[in-house]
Amino acid sequence: MTANKIVAVGWNYRSHLSETHAKMPTEPIVFLKPMSAIIGDGDSIRIPPGVGRVDHEVELAVIMGEDARGVSIDEAPSYISHLAVANDVTARDMQTKAREDGNPWALPKGMDTFAPLSDPVPFDSVDDIQDLRLDLKVNGVLRQKGRTSLMIFPVAELIAYISRFMTLEAGDILMTGTPEGIGPLLPGDEVVARIEGVGTLRNPVV
Ligand code: MG
Repeated sequence: MTANKIVAVGWNYRSHLSETHAKMPTEPIVFLKPMSAIIGDGDSIRIPPGVGRVDHEVELAVIMGEDARGVSIDEAPSYISHLAVANDVTARDMQTKAREDGNPWALPKGMDTFAPLSDPVPFDSVDDIQDLRLDLKVNGVLRQKGRTSLMIFPVAELIAYISRFMTLEAGDILMTGTPEGIGPLLPGDEVVARIEGVGTLRNPVV
């Protein structure tokens, strides 16, 4: 099962809206990250020179087990095969400028190494994906914490909404948004993202 794409959702936690001066979405805000951005646990996040501030965003990642096209909210969970911890690394200065100028976020969200992903665990091994604690530490200091119960659009609603327009293919990865506490990463940092029952994702920054 090979992933063809990473579909990511922006501003899916109320608490993250105010810190990024975003307004409450009436529908999920969907963007793509390229497969070439993926790295694994222990691999280095590489910040290219001259891009300004680069932020961490801990997120629950959902991996599709079957092609989902036009599925209902009720059916959506049966299309999930695995879960993982993701870090939606973002070149924030570039993204902010793109937002201001009305331009796409492809580069600020899609640079090489900007999609760290933990080893996946079976979906069935987690009781309730809408009641998991997630947190992220940089150099041992807690930066982000939240619960998946605080998502604006729960995972099943995201899958139903996205699959109305875009097939979520078997193996595709859905990143479900980040809670508050985003902050900058600097070379030499070590970033550790954790989700209760799902795993730990540790990446040095260079
Ligand atoms: Mg994100």
